[in-house]
Amino acid sequence: MLTRTFFGNPDHIHEFGLQSRLCYPPFGGPRGLSILDIVSIFEQEYRALRPRAPMPPVHVRFRRFTSLNTTIRLREGELHASLSDLLEGAPEPVLHAIAHILLAKLYRKTIDAAQNLRYKRFATSAAVMRQTELVRTTRGAKRYFGPEGRYYHLERIFDELNTRFFGGLLGRPELTWSEQTAKRLLGHYDAAHNTIVVSRVFDRPSSPRYAIEYLLYHEMLHLKHPVRMKGVRRTVHGREFRADEARFPQLKEALAFLKRL
Ligand SMILES: [Zn+2]
Repeated sequence: MLTRTFFGNPDHIHEFGLQSRLCYPPFGGPRGLSILDIVSIFEQEYRALRPRAPMPPVHVRFRRFTSLNTTIRLREGELHASLSDLLEGAPEPVLHAIAHILLAKLYRKTIDAAQNLRYKRFATSAAVMRQTELVRTTRGAKRYFGPEGRYYHLERIFDELNTRFFGGLLGRPELTWSEQTAKRLLGHYDAAHNTIVVSRVFDRPSSPRYAIEYLLYHEMLHLKHPVRMKGVRRTVHGREFRADEARFPQLKEALAFLKRL
């Protein structure tokens, strides 16, 4: 995925996109907390709510939700929290608030007003809403506009890149132009729908062929290098991915063009 947006809580802004050229996670990224840190946040909030009760084992995982859905369950004496991956990299106080609210609900305790406010503020912040909406459009019901643009035909470019860089070995996924000339999400590979979506912003004569080629090549590399787990972290653009990407001859020109979009 290539994005060029600001995400995050207004007072806690990280830039992703062309600078770090990160697809994932949506915000927080490398500076986000590890799962172990988040488990510890749950343990602290548990302790605060139940000072004398024995500490249950806590399991936290992120799941792909299209909303900020979070759940907590007690199963055989162990706590299992599922957090939306939209919360990955959320500021620490917000994670404390979420842990507090979930645990208070589970154990029928009064929810602390300040914690509640902290979470509400985060959830309604414009940036999160934008991210939620973006994720919903890319993960939800897929609208298909087809590979044939006014100037460029995605399948033709795909086939040519496939021959040039992959020995023709990549299976062709669905290729489609986006509905809008999106500038914040330039392209992404949607593994769930096996579809590469390319922003229509590239389908114009002022857009050089190497730009769309680079974008498609980047997304094709996601087919070749699936997201890997490195411990609890996802590696989206790993070392091999980067090395392959560097083989694109007009990488510099393409990135410069993307920046100007
Ligand atoms: Zn990517």
